[in-house]
Amino acid sequence: MNKLSEFDYYEPATLAEAYDLLEKFGTEAKVLAGGTDMLVMNKKSAFAKVEKSDCNVHNRLIADTCATTTEVKRVYDLKNVINLKKIKPILNEIAVKGDKLTIGALATMTQINLNESVKKHFPALAAAAGRMGSPLVRNIATMGGNVANSSPAGETLFVLLALEAKVLVGGKAGNRTIDINDFFVHVGKNSLKPGEIILAFELESTGSCNAYKRFSPRHSMDLVVVGVCANLWMDGKVCKKANIGLGAVAITPIHAVSAEKYLVGKELTDDVIKEAAKLAAGDAKPISDIRASAEYRTHLVEVLTKRTIKEALA
Ligand SMILES: Cc1cc2nc3c(=O)[nH]c(=O)nc-3n(C[C@H](O)[C@H](O)[C@H](O)COP(=O)(O)OP(=O)(O)OC[C@H]3O[C@@H](n4cnc5c(N)ncnc54)[C@H](O)[C@@H]3O)c2cc1C
Repeated sequence: MNKLSEFDYYEPATLAEAYDLLEKFGTEAKVLAGGTDMLVMNKKSAFAKVEKSDCNVHNRLIADTCATTTEVKRVYDLKNVINLKKIKPILNEIAVKGDKLTIGALATMTQINLNESVKKHFPALAAAAGRMGSPLVRNIATMGGNVANSSPAGETLFVLLALEAKVLVGGKAGNRTIDINDFFVHVGKNSLKPGEIILAFELESTGSCNAYKRFSPRHSMDLVVVGVCANLWMDGKVCKKANIGLGAVAITPIHAVSAEKYLVGKELTDDVIKEAAKLAAGDAKPISDIRASAEYRTHLVEVLTKRTIKEALA
């Protein structure tokens, strides 16, 4: 591992100050929450040759005047780090208002795991938050950081997808809400605009039952090889609506769309659950990598979907 990059560090006291800093430093700024992804990524980051141009807006129009040189820098570099944790009011509150649960972006995994309202209405999320990393990591890692990092294997991402979360984001231009289905764009990429930060997540408790399961070779400190979250709306034994979120089987977390469609209107017998699990495996588009082959991941989707639906119904 390399040393950390040398960077300037800021502790804005208000959101307005944070937005000003983000505007001032543009692509050379990164916000810091728990730092459990950011600092590791910076230390692990490879060095690569990048082209550096002296073009500004004016002389970009006259290409001949641009001098381009190459410099060696980290792929994941840190220049200006803006810590969000000193912002008041602190963005880590978990609040219930009627059927709506709002989880601040800086709420840690431990906070989410232990929260009574999360445990009652969204046991899948409480379980995911309680399973991530290790106790030390969970005590500082935030859900905002997990989601902003946008890894397809991110522990809470496929869960939030199945739970129909809304992502509240803010920036200089004001606040907006992004449907979680529109948030993830590619591996490590999302629909946050430059200068925007995640403020909170909104979940609505609508009487569904939900569960989460993941597989990784080691119990702790290991990323999800495959993750499944089932969120089911039942009318007696019949399924009215189903969301099945899958993690680490595509470039973003995805819905197992065919399985979801198949479950609707059916009594959830063992055979129906078995068939839905098969369909979910067909919905997955995994790759082979150092942690598992595509074939193994596909098999895991089937096994975990079956178990997750059963647990949600239990
Ligand atoms: C030992 C270890 C084990 C781990 N195990 C797991 C695991 O099992 N599963 C898993 O999913 N992850 C795991 N992780 C990764 C990491 O802990 C999580 O992704 C964590 O939730 C990141 O949150 P953070 O607050 O530390 O984010 P940070 O590292 O502070 O930030 C991560 C990225 O998100 C951006 N960001 C942070 N907050 C915001 C915000 N509010 N708005 C906009 N952008 C923001 C940052 O600029 C940065 O790019 C592990 C990490 C370690 C070190």
